[in-house]
Amino acid sequence: MEKRENTKEYEFSNKRMTDIKISVGDALFSNKNFNIIAGPCSIESEDHIFELAHDIKKAGAGILRGGAFKLRTSPYDFQGLGKVALNYLVSAGKKENLPTVSEIIDVRHIDYYADLDMIQVGARNMKNYTLLRELGRGDIPVLLKRGMDSTYEELLFAAEYIMSEGNSNVILCERGIRTFENYTRNTLDISAVPALKNFTNLPIIVDPSHSTGRSELVEPVSLGAAAAGANGLIIEVHKNPSKALSDKEQAVTPSELSNIVEKSKKIIEVLG
Ligand code: PEP
Ligand code: MN
Repeated sequence: MEKRENTKEYEFSNKRMTDIKISVGDALFSNKNFNIIAGPCSIESEDHIFELAHDIKKAGAGILRGGAFKLRTSPYDFQGLGKVALNYLVSAGKKENLPTVSEIIDVRHIDYYADLDMIQVGARNMKNYTLLRELGRGDIPVLLKRGMDSTYEELLFAAEYIMSEGNSNVILCERGIRTFENYTRNTLDISAVPALKNFTNLPIIVDPSHSTGRSELVEPVSLGAAAAGANGLIIEVHKNPSKALSDKEQAVTPSELSNIVEKSKKIIEVLG
């Protein structure tokens, strides 16, 4: 990219890595691949995640997500089932042959994630540099979400905190930023996808669920992200969204997921 004269040149080590390939179980992430991660905002029981894992596999998504430790705005809302839910997630993933990912909220929990294929750092922890450094000392791939008030530069430096400790398996995620608009939960910054590609070769995925907060917007926004060059999507799914214990307004059903998978693959094919 042509840099304007007053734009600072930052040295990002991830830009120097040209051929990035990140294995998340059997799924391969790179700046040329497209993967769909799907699952519930929160794992509600063992049966819940086992049934949903089956539906997600059938819908054609390649990676299973499920929340175990949740960071909720209100301390009185469901906080997740905790450690036991990670065990359910790993078992459900094994049964359906799907790699797994879940969000970490506390550096003291790192050992709980040893059997997962990827660890998510949520928007609220993007600047938790102690956590990022600790994840950098391991080798499990990290899905790093952009903070809701963070610039591209801050996101790239957050990735550097992980990579500078030795773990170069980092996947970036645009999940919407805070703006004055309140019809949607956040505002998806679609420009982040092509713009970040000027600075990094790390894969970049989009979260249409938290960016819109509305299930009916998840499909069109997913297709827009695929067209903009995203390397994947992370989508919240529930069999019965109105009964979900968290983020019920934005959950799509397994059959809606199946449509998204099919249509986004068509877009990827058309665009090569
Ligand atoms: C999530 O993925 O469940 C989540 C809480 O997302 P974010 O950190 O983007 O808000
Ligand atoms: Mn959620």
